[in-house]
Amino acid sequence: MSGEIQELVIAGSGVAGLSAAVYAARADLKPLVLEGDEPGGQLTLTTDIENYLGFPEGIGGMELIQRGKEQATQFGAEFQYGSIESATLDEDPKELSLSTGETVRTHALIVATGASARWVNAENEEKLMGYGLSTCATCDGAFHRGDDVLVIGGGDSAMEEALFLAKFADSVTIVHRRDESRASEIMATRVRDHDDIAFHWNTELQAIHGSQEDGVTGATLVSHPDGYPKRKAAEGVDVTTETVDVGGVFYGIGHTPNTGFLEETSVPRDQDGYILTQPDGTGRMTTKTTVEGVFAAGDVADPTYRQAITAAGTGSMAALDAEGFLETLEETERPAVGASA
Ligand code: NAP
Repeated sequence: MSGEIQELVIAGSGVAGLSAAVYAARADLKPLVLEGDEPGGQLTLTTDIENYLGFPEGIGGMELIQRGKEQATQFGAEFQYGSIESATLDEDPKELSLSTGETVRTHALIVATGASARWVNAENEEKLMGYGLSTCATCDGAFHRGDDVLVIGGGDSAMEEALFLAKFADSVTIVHRRDESRASEIMATRVRDHDDIAFHWNTELQAIHGSQEDGVTGATLVSHPDGYPKRKAAEGVDVTTETVDVGGVFYGIGHTPNTGFLEETSVPRDQDGYILTQPDGTGRMTTKTTVEGVFAAGDVADPTYRQAITAAGTGSMAALDAEGFLETLEETERPAVGASA
């Protein structure tokens, strides 16, 4: 363990973490950004972003992240490889045990570790993610004008993706592994009533076809009248296989917030693991958690909006909240930055 105590550590280097880093670095807090297991976060899986304010021609997800990192570095943010495996957060300084084996100590922590979209585990998904295969209809739907597209999943995310995609695509087919949707009635009704959206029940995605040059060109689906066809096939039961021509595939099978390292801490999370942030005394939104000096920004605390621009917004809020917190810590209560404890 190094003797140095950081003023502020930002866990995660997606758009929320980078936005927090820019604000914190400009406030001279010399933030240390832990890059995490997926440096750059979910945006690195998106090709072009057209709805991020200020880029009328659109910008590549990777480019936006690289520019954000450059901006944060220019103001004095430091970046370190590694993710937090466990943490002690109730005392000052907080102790973070990293995947690299190191321990980092800090007075304040912004958790911006994001949420990872679940993947189906279909053939070719690694190769085609960002090239016609997507986990975000809002981000990539507009690239599929006139296409036939598939949405995988049977919950509200899948319904929402399908409704959004139906604005652009010629047809949208929701592929669900059983014959019943778990979506809320209102969403399911909207989808059922939509002329351009169909369901393919008791069906799963086996493989996606295409290339990074041509994008997605087709998909292989497997079906069984009793549902869960992949499991049935693995048990040796006969399933029906078909290949369909499609120009896009969207995964809508849910997200998992990256908060496993908080399990042994008292940072409050909802039943799905998303961090719960607290309102201030007037009921207005903040990025504070109930643990002093621990803040949350971006998708890790947001199962609802999940947009790059909202993540950037809450990232800046978290930096401002952290700055306010650090100002209230009496100089006498903590050693100066860089001093040995
Ligand atoms: P979810 O409710 O957990 O639904 C995930 C869906 O994906 C389920 O239908 C599930 O099938 C299917 N699935 C999971 N793993 C799969 C796999 N490996 N292969 C194929 N299918 C798979 O997740 P969600 O839809 O993201 O919703 C999460 C929460 O956010 C919910 O509370 C939801 O109401 C809320 N939400 C609300 C809105 C809205 O109101 N506008 C929008 C999005 C999300 P099974 O049904 O067979 O398990």
